[in-house]
Amino acid sequence: MTAISLVFRALAALWLGVAAPAAAEPLSALARPDLAASALDDLPGGGVALQLDLSQPVPYRVFTLEAPPRLVVDFREVDWRGISAAALTGSDRVRAARAGTIRPGWSRLVLDLAAPMALASAEMPRDPVSGRARLTVQLGPADPARAAAPAGPPAQTALWGLPAPEPLPPPPRRNDGSRPLRVVIDPGHGGIDPGAERAGISEASLMLSFGKELAEALARAGFDPVLTRAEDVFVPLETRIDIARAARADLFLSLHADALADGYASGATVYTLSDTATDRASAQLAERHDRDALLAGVDLSDKDDVIAGVLMDLARTDTQPRSERLAEAIVAGLGAHVGQLYKTPHMSAAFSVLKAPDIPSVLIEMGFLSSRDDRENLTSPDWRARAAAGIVEALRAWAETDAAEAALLRR
Ligand SMILES: [Zn+2]
Repeated sequence: MTAISLVFRALAALWLGVAAPAAAEPLSALARPDLAASALDDLPGGGVALQLDLSQPVPYRVFTLEAPPRLVVDFREVDWRGISAAALTGSDRVRAARAGTIRPGWSRLVLDLAAPMALASAEMPRDPVSGRARLTVQLGPADPARAAAPAGPPAQTALWGLPAPEPLPPPPRRNDGSRPLRVVIDPGHGGIDPGAERAGISEASLMLSFGKELAEALARAGFDPVLTRAEDVFVPLETRIDIARAARADLFLSLHADALADGYASGATVYTLSDTATDRASAQLAERHDRDALLAGVDLSDKDDVIAGVLMDLARTDTQPRSERLAEAIVAGLGAHVGQLYKTPHMSAAFSVLKAPDIPSVLIEMGFLSSRDDRENLTSPDWRARAAAGIVEALRAWAETDAAEAALLRR
């Protein structure tokens, strides 16, 4: 048993005292952090102490992650809205702090550590007079002898009481036009991961709005849309694919509007999956999406063993040309309805969220938040309605060709 799980067990016991409300009863009030009364301090010998002042005690758990080294604290019912964890400073051994929603009812604080550290203690005493709580976490230098001990979150079911995942359903029968096309719409980022931010606009909230509008437009046009998230919560990349598979999606659209550090790039781009990126900027974009998911406290497990890899390649042989046709159709649809696209509107890169082997998938960069023109478009309801209409038209055209091919293949 690792030190981490020991501490976790101690904390689990602590929850019983803290999580006083009956199991089914939601906590009535959200706890709020007070960063002015909170602190990060260096400890002698290379450690760090975190003190976080909260308006009331809440259930929580603490764990560390490696590569890059991070401390993660999950809280039940702590409201971080309007509070920037970046204000938690005071230790050179903590490079950055961020916090936000990770799933409904739960939020997460992540500290990026300058070096691997080990959890020494964690407690959340409550002040009997004020009723406030103070989370105190102490980290010590990582013990080299323990270097091989696995760090990582305890099984998520221990925290959230979720049922174990069902075995995945069989791949969906290919749609031959006899039922509405089930379109999974994936608004990028969310919760603790806001995505790109420019001029007070976040990619996560903008794509959530557009995702909902697109879902409405698709439903009106007779499609069967499903959203991977309908609120401002963090959804790990793998979970987004799992949602699509569980929904037996006919296709998967991930929606983004990233920012580029340099250049004046503007216009929409449609990405398909490839191990070799079209260009350097595309490769960096794909890496950044994986890194955002990683930094939010979730490790992308590399499930691809050799046999699974071969099977997935076989499935992709069938799916990849359908994804390419989907990208071409969306480029045409957006071109017809909103005009200006990026100079090379169909590109490819190794986006993890596009890796479902059996579901045609594309990632649409609706525009660049780093471009003023694109920001104006993306925040215009009229422009967004035209973009949605372009995608609806594209899916109609794609579905017709794809269903005709499916009918041929069944003979
Ligand atoms: Zn993005």
